[in-house]
Amino acid sequence: MKKIVIVGGGFAGINLANTLGKNKDFDITLVDHNNYNFFPPLIYQVATAFIEPSNICYPFRKMFQGKPNVEFHLGSLVMIHQQANIVETDKGSLPYDYLVLAMGTETNFFGNKNIEEKAYPMKNINDAAALRNHILTSLEKATITEDPEEEKKLRNIVIAGGGATGVEVAGMLSDMAHNIISKDYPNLKKGVGRLYLIDGSNALLGPMSQKAQQEALKVLTERGVDVILNTLVKDYNDDIVTLGNDQTIPTATLVWASGVIARQAPGLPESSITKGRRIMVDEYNKVAGTDNIFALGDQCFQTSDADYPNGHPQLAQIAIQQGILLAENLPRLVKQKTLNPFKYNNKGSMAAIAKFKSVIDFPKGGFMKGFMAWLTWLLIHLVPIAGSRNKFKLATNWIVSFITNDPTLRLILEPEKKDSNPS
Ligand SMILES: Cc1cc2nc3c(=O)[nH]c(=O)nc-3n(C[C@H](O)[C@H](O)[C@H](O)COP(=O)(O)OP(=O)(O)OC[C@H]3O[C@@H](n4cnc5c(N)ncnc54)[C@H](O)[C@@H]3O)c2cc1C
Repeated sequence: MKKIVIVGGGFAGINLANTLGKNKDFDITLVDHNNYNFFPPLIYQVATAFIEPSNICYPFRKMFQGKPNVEFHLGSLVMIHQQANIVETDKGSLPYDYLVLAMGTETNFFGNKNIEEKAYPMKNINDAAALRNHILTSLEKATITEDPEEEKKLRNIVIAGGGATGVEVAGMLSDMAHNIISKDYPNLKKGVGRLYLIDGSNALLGPMSQKAQQEALKVLTERGVDVILNTLVKDYNDDIVTLGNDQTIPTATLVWASGVIARQAPGLPESSITKGRRIMVDEYNKVAGTDNIFALGDQCFQTSDADYPNGHPQLAQIAIQQGILLAENLPRLVKQKTLNPFKYNNKGSMAAIAKFKSVIDFPKGGFMKGFMAWLTWLLIHLVPIAGSRNKFKLATNWIVSFITNDPTLRLILEPEKKDSNPS
């Protein structure tokens, strides 16, 4: 049996593990620093108290039940020892015949320490839960304070980054402001605060079509979101956001949805790391300068696909398709057969701007918006959710919440810290 270690159980990692796991010639260990897989496209709904974290998370050990050749290792990558074919994690060392890196990306704060310390990123479930607690706690504080300036800061929210995540958070928060906050917090003296969406480029939803961009701007503006384009967020200190044009906005909440950088993979040849810290791979996703190490999904950079000479965008479908292709190629590699190169099958892109309002760009240039696009968006985001119980819970949660305009998840849940070394 060939020993495969996969580091990272996101879209790429689980598609590789689940597909290759059917082949009993491979002994697979999946390493992840969480004990669950989660679905990043919906974490904004966790952050805005619309759905529960458990609706979009699934434990690896349950996922691999009944698959004797697939194991789970809870740990974080420390070092790849290429010569020894060993990968070291913070919980132990694992030998491999083939190593696959699929750790995705982390938030990029572009070196701004103030923003890194004080802003709320939107990259994983912990980020989403932290933002949800913070927004709800800020609203509670706003009902108590007697200081009007303090109250203003507590009610205002600034979102940096007008890509799909920023747009979706802004849309959901504006729905929350209209449907919930006014009812839950009747004693908030000036109603809900202002919601700003800031982006350095000249349009929202940068990689999408102009029609999608215009629709996002129109829908959010109609809902009272202050969209500021062609402007960067420069700093965040003492609850004041400073923009590139020196405009300042008082707020206790800066949501950072402005950029990502690939996770570090210590031990790889330096020459294999390129822009955005992504790992250079060939057409079979093999890491440049190595014999038996592969990288997939957001973490890799591949220029061999003729339609994407500057690398693929960092999207779920690319990670999924690369994971499945590698699961087909590894048995071919072992049997010394010809491998198939990766070619991205673009299935289009979409974003949910607000309730009943989505945009879809189809691969051959078609465009759809409005209610039907929103229903399509819901369906397409339901299908890949791991576990049929989760799909059912999410679907019922959505139906009830969208009909009543009142999701019932506005709980501030902050576990008390226990003394780790009680005397
Ligand atoms: C908020 C948000 C919304 C998004 N919306 C969309 C969307 O609507 N459509 C779309 O196509 N794409 C979307 N994306 C992008 C999409 O999620 C990524 O392209 C996709 O997740 C990449 O898959 P991956 O397998 O490469 O990495 P990931 O899915 O990020 O998985 C990486 C895995 O590695 C693990 N890991 C990380 N570091 C370590 C370590 N040091 N040791 C061990 N394990 C580690 C993580 O826990 C995770 O399980 C969104 C991303 C975010 C953050």
